[in-house]
Amino acid sequence: GLFSWPGKFRMGMDLLIPKKVWPEGERVDETLESFVVRRMGRECLDRLAEPLVGGVHASDPKQMSLAATFPRLLEMEQKNGSLMRGFLDARKKVEEMRKKYPPKPGAKPRTFFTTFTGGMAELSDAMAEQIGTERTKVGSAVQSIARDGEEWTVTLADGTVITGDAVIVATESFAAEPLVRTIDEDIANALSAIPTSSSATVSIAFDESEVGVDMNAFGVLCPMVEDRPLLAATYSSTKWPGRAPAGKVLFRGFVGGPHNQAIMDRSDEELIDTVLEQLRSIVGVSKDAKPLFARIFRWHRGMPQYTLGHLDRVEQIEDRSAQIKGFALAGGSYRGVG
Ligand SMILES: Cc1cc2nc3c(=O)[nH]c(=O)nc-3n(C[C@H](O)[C@H](O)[C@H](O)COP(=O)(O)OP(=O)(O)OC[C@H]3O[C@@H](n4cnc5c(N)ncnc54)[C@H](O)[C@@H]3O)c2cc1C
Repeated sequence: GLFSWPGKFRMGMDLLIPKKVWPEGERVDETLESFVVRRMGRECLDRLAEPLVGGVHASDPKQMSLAATFPRLLEMEQKNGSLMRGFLDARKKVEEMRKKYPPKPGAKPRTFFTTFTGGMAELSDAMAEQIGTERTKVGSAVQSIARDGEEWTVTLADGTVITGDAVIVATESFAAEPLVRTIDEDIANALSAIPTSSSATVSIAFDESEVGVDMNAFGVLCPMVEDRPLLAATYSSTKWPGRAPAGKVLFRGFVGGPHNQAIMDRSDEELIDTVLEQLRSIVGVSKDAKPLFARIFRWHRGMPQYTLGHLDRVEQIEDRSAQIKGFALAGGSYRGVG
């Protein structure tokens, strides 16, 4: 089983441990590690919470702010006095909703996983079309932003100068920082305090007849305590319809994250070999199955880390930005990383 008997017993103690009382006026926040170990024990953190909760954010549970990532867990403790009671309560509500709004006969079961048929680019393409492609400019980085009274000037790397009455900086926080420094030092300093980590995805395709894996699953998560180079693997062709033609299967392995930045130095060939070896040893991809192709996508500093204090930094950024007419920051670095 996933848990030992002492581990299960310790998790059950969640029902008895009183809720934490926070000093008046203090933000209710702590790290994922401190919260889960306090309520349910270390085994629950290592075997369940870290891969499931920390894994979604590719974050270090020792640093990760729960209020910025999964505030519901903190709310459950405060409202229900226990995580288990909180989850049971939530499940009851879901069941009530299902009874109230039953699925249409023949409808596919709903999952958490939703995307565009042709990938995320469909969203930005549709937005560009709506705005008018003649009014959008792509393929040239913003080099600087300047303000003169109420007029904003944006200079691109290809020398183009765009003027306007408002600017929304929607880059990653680390890329926004040098652009914003000339506008407001405090915002730039708060931006530079948001840590990031790099990761890569390695997609590998096989013939279904060779792969030797029961593909009736969404994927695997690797707990950090196992000290593997793979963070997780998705069975992409099962999770998303249309990701592979009939008779072929597609896996996507994730590597990197705050605990293994060194792996990002490996070459593409080395990363493919690493993920292939992990797929063989963890999910049982047959040794004889030959990859049809493999593709790597590297996400340099692509995961903002919502560490303890993140919400204070974001509030500071938002408060100061609100005082600058025609200026805003937006994006996954602030509220709501995937
Ligand atoms: C490996 C991986 C897997 C993920 N999986 C999921 C998932 O399954 N579900 C989910 O919901 N989320 C997922 N995420 C998170 C999701 O990708 C991000 O939350 C989302 O992309 C953030 O969108 P954004 O527009 O804020 O920033 P980004 O998508 O990072 O876009 C910022 C853009 O700014 C551009 N830029 C930077 N500097 C400049 C400049 N000077 N001038 C012009 N442009 C500039 C960059 O090139 C980039 O295109 C994943 C992230 C990673 C790295």
